[in-house]
Amino acid sequence: MIVHEILNESTKVLEAVGIPSARLDAEVLLAFCLSCDRLEFFKNPEMQLSLTQQAAFQKLIDRRLRWEPVAYITGRKNFWTFTLEVNKDVLIPRPDTEVIVEEVLDIAKKSEVAGIKILDIGTGSGAIAIAVASEIPHASVMATDISPAALEVARRNAESMELQNKIDFRHGDLLEPVEGVFDIIASNPPYIGAVEYKELPEGVRLFEPREALFAGKSGLEFYEKIIYQAADHLKKNGWLLLEIGATQQKDILRIMENSGFYDNIEMRRDYAGLPRVIKARRKVSG
Ligand code: SAH
Repeated sequence: MIVHEILNESTKVLEAVGIPSARLDAEVLLAFCLSCDRLEFFKNPEMQLSLTQQAAFQKLIDRRLRWEPVAYITGRKNFWTFTLEVNKDVLIPRPDTEVIVEEVLDIAKKSEVAGIKILDIGTGSGAIAIAVASEIPHASVMATDISPAALEVARRNAESMELQNKIDFRHGDLLEPVEGVFDIIASNPPYIGAVEYKELPEGVRLFEPREALFAGKSGLEFYEKIIYQAADHLKKNGWLLLEIGATQQKDILRIMENSGFYDNIEMRRDYAGLPRVIKARRKVSG
């Protein structure tokens, strides 16, 4: 078979089970299978596939038909300006999370602190910590996670970008493994509540780590803990930045205000116009 035919055929099969990005997924998987760029298919639609190549591609399509996310099949995901290794032990980093990276960089740029200290709680693949470390040469970054397997992936990702000496990875529960104070604490913690968890798309619910998603009955468990624990680890006038679910803004603002630790509380929307990041400044007193 030739590329053009095999892509049309596999797109149809993926569409038939309801996969929304069928054509793109087929192209990405074929490019991965042939170790080439997707552009090759436009330049060369008549390219002939060997039987071995066809069989290997079919195996990838079969995995996608069972809703396995493309990033787990290929083992990689683009984030910020780089490509991260991902596997079933880490959440696949989402484009929305680039908003919190932008906010961290914005604060860091305005800061006059030499050797700015930044903490990423629940680092997963290392996405936020690595993006920040790659952009701010003078930053020292710490990143924590409760999952040793996720930390292994994050460490490998840092090494592949030669950032391992700039990021101190720590294993443990939220801020428990952390000592010292920071200029910025950022986190994209689990934030899916019990009802929403049941309603997640199959590809997410069946494949992504539950401990990266599930956050107790209300979905707010981690925010509450982080908001209180971070107060002890922020410099005066330091910033806490939290990625939030689109419907959680009110509840999280309430927790922040009730804590009495923060002022200058602001919300930033993502590029779809949904509430995505809350940032707040540690008060000088309180
Ligand atoms: N920051 C990454 C991953 C977000 S998923 C990204 O934006 O892509 C949330 C992460 O929090 C997961 O890696 C999960 O293992 C971690 N996590 C869950 N409970 C935790 C806890 N109690 N302490 C620290 N990390 C935790």
